[in-house]
Amino acid sequence: MNYFVDESGYYGDFGGAYIPEMLYPNVETLRQRYLEIINAPDFKKELDDLLRDYVGRPSPLYLATRLSEHYKTNIYLKREDLNHTGSHKINNTLGQILLAKRLNKTRIIAETGAGQHGVATATVCALMGLKCVVYMGKIDMERQAVNVQRMRMLGAEVIPALSGSQTLKDATNEALRDWINNPVDTHYIIGSVVGPHPYPDMVARFQSIISKEIRSQLEEKTGRSTPDYVLACVGGGSNAAGAFYHFLDDENVKLIAAEAAGKGVETGLSAATCALGKPGVLHGSKIIVIQTEDGQIVEPYSISAGLDYPGIGPFHSNLYKTGRAKFISITDEQALKAGYRLTLTEGIIPALESAHALAVLDTMKFKPSDVLVINLSGRGDKDLETYFKNEVKI
Ligand SMILES: *Cc1c(COP(=O)(O)O)cnc(C)c1O
Repeated sequence: MNYFVDESGYYGDFGGAYIPEMLYPNVETLRQRYLEIINAPDFKKELDDLLRDYVGRPSPLYLATRLSEHYKTNIYLKREDLNHTGSHKINNTLGQILLAKRLNKTRIIAETGAGQHGVATATVCALMGLKCVVYMGKIDMERQAVNVQRMRMLGAEVIPALSGSQTLKDATNEALRDWINNPVDTHYIIGSVVGPHPYPDMVARFQSIISKEIRSQLEEKTGRSTPDYVLACVGGGSNAAGAFYHFLDDENVKLIAAEAAGKGVETGLSAATCALGKPGVLHGSKIIVIQTEDGQIVEPYSISAGLDYPGIGPFHSNLYKTGRAKFISITDEQALKAGYRLTLTEGIIPALESAHALAVLDTMKFKPSDVLVINLSGRGDKDLETYFKNEVKI
């Protein structure tokens, strides 16, 4: 089985580049050049140096002793929450901005839902002194006012998307329109393993540093480089892709992806893509997506903004279809409880997205000898208000 992208940009039945004619030149240039650029020694050196000195990598692999005792197994946390800006997203935006510079681009655009990818993009634009324009649904701008202010403080221009439901998918459409109109000087930084080929592969490669570090850190701590399980939450799928990447060919490593069930899979207020979706085209590639009988995309719901996406990228669509990864739906309530549990047992407040991965511990049985690695994709500072409003006694 091959779980990586093939020559034509597909992961099994999924992926490809379903784009309007007008976008073809931009995407084609990227496709032809991305591997040569990101594999060049001077690129790797510049990225590695920044990941170390600016982001703070390697992120620790932490043995969560009290959490392990509670679940009677061995749980390691990969601490992406300790990265600069508070999540894994910076790994990708840093990689892409270095790529953009080598393509002689002077202007960066991005889409954002809750604002986290927008902030990570505005951050690297400030770092590199490049112009930054972030498209964001008007409703999301109202809901995430602090992140809008953060992006503006970092020097970005935030443009409201006023069409449709005024949320993420509309912001993505606006960003694509901008790119069509500015093909020469602009690079579009996509925030997850979604979009037309080569984006999913490129983003997965930038995030694969997560599993590369896990392997060597685990080897150092336990004498074995492979755990029994790797667990991660899936919105579009970039932190999970990064955490799974270097274990894909080790079939004895079980891969568990947590998707957001929202109020419950059957309630109509959910983002549980595998439970509810079927193959379709969204944001330029063939993926599993939640849609109506006649193919209209269904507006998703989750308490965690980062998982509030109606599809999963082609990489994960293929892992789901082939059975290589197991997908588990986690409700808002289960995630909140797992978030409070980690806070009270380890003194770590996780992002609500990451709390979905932690909640898998309550839904599966693990052996006392099992070694688990859970990717803690982000910190919970941004979610405090939601935690306070939904306090859970454990
Ligand atoms: C954005 C985000 C996610 C979801 O995005 P993926 O591409 O699926 O990783 C998960 N966790 C955190 C903390 C995020 O900010």
